[in-house]
Amino acid sequence: MSHYSDDELALYFYGEANRPEAIRDHLDHCAGCAANYSELAATLKLVTAPPIPERDERYGLEVWQRIRPQLPVAPPAVLPLWRRHVYSMAGLAAAAVLVADATGHDPSRAVAVAEQFELREIVAADRRIRRDIGGRALRRGA
Ligand SMILES: [Zn+2]
Repeated sequence: MSHYSDDELALYFYGEANRPEAIRDHLDHCAGCAANYSELAATLKLVTAPPIPERDERYGLEVWQRIRPQLPVAPPAVLPLWRRHVYSMAGLAAAAVLVADATGHDPSRAVAVAEQFELREIVAADRRIRRDIGGRALRRGA
């Protein structure tokens, strides 16, 4: 017959054992484990759980303010230039369709205008990047 460990008996004491009826049965028939459990239970009865403090509605905010300085700072999300333009172009086209629908104008024409506007921005950004890259290459080469 195998006997129960202190950990298993402690779980039994707190009502958290997997098979409490098997332990109860064992304790009825095993003087060693019964004595061990009796001693353990006497000790555990001395331990009283501290009262759980009441939480008000600001508790979540307090916890957040406490842990916030310990959280790593995420770098700002920087999209590659082409993805930013794809997103803004899609947004402009959608806005153009909405505006055109609302005002009763031809949506396809409004999209074309929006795309031309966006194309001008892309060309300007491309020029700026080429100028920056060219400047750096010249400085490196010098
Ligand atoms: Zn036993």
